[in-house]
Amino acid sequence: MAWANKPSCVLWRETASPVVRRTISARMRIGSTWKRSSVPPPTRSRLLRARCCEWESNGRRYFDYKLDHVALRFCSFLSARYVVDREDWKGIQLEVYYDKDHPWNVPRMMKSLKKSLEYYTSNFGSYPNKEARIIEFPRSIGRFAQGFAGTMPYSEAIGFIANLNHPDDIDMVYYVVAHEMGHQWWAHQVVGADMQGATFLSESLAQYSALMVMETAAT
Ligand SMILES: [Zn+2]
Repeated sequence: MAWANKPSCVLWRETASPVVRRTISARMRIGSTWKRSSVPPPTRSRLLRARCCEWESNGRRYFDYKLDHVALRFCSFLSARYVVDREDWKGIQLEVYYDKDHPWNVPRMMKSLKKSLEYYTSNFGSYPNKEARIIEFPRSIGRFAQGFAGTMPYSEAIGFIANLNHPDDIDMVYYVVAHEMGHQWWAHQVVGADMQGATFLSESLAQYSALMVMETAAT
């Protein structure tokens, strides 16, 4: 893997246990000694757009993030030297942050983001964020992806370095992106009660949603 050429990569997750699961409105500030780093915020920040959320002081670099809507109490922070691919989908900024040596599956991730937005906004309702971000993290942290509000950390192991060239392979990269995008509706808009069966509203419906998007994979 090529993460050794990065200053660091940090993933922090807070698991939404049944006890603490609830929605929040939040503002966050991160300080770093790194001169050249990229920190995707947990959700859209108007401050970021205005370029006033990032500044340097006393040799440190600071980032200000602000949730512009109430969201599930469930967020992550990642920081590393990334290459970023960007596209626009009907005013929503699509971004994939990745290691410069792992570009192979980025186009299929972008395609899945767009197909997910097409299907979900047509069938489930509007997308609540102004950005949809996929952010690579090293397999030393884990082999999973997870849907936070507007941001989806995605392990290099199951996405960015996955080899899908065999014609019989199921496109799991495309599928997992669609699943995590499904959580933007199922878990981040429809939040289950603190009781047995709550994950039907998150995992089961995210799986169903991803299968619907998979049907569009060949189109
Ligand atoms: Zn899930």
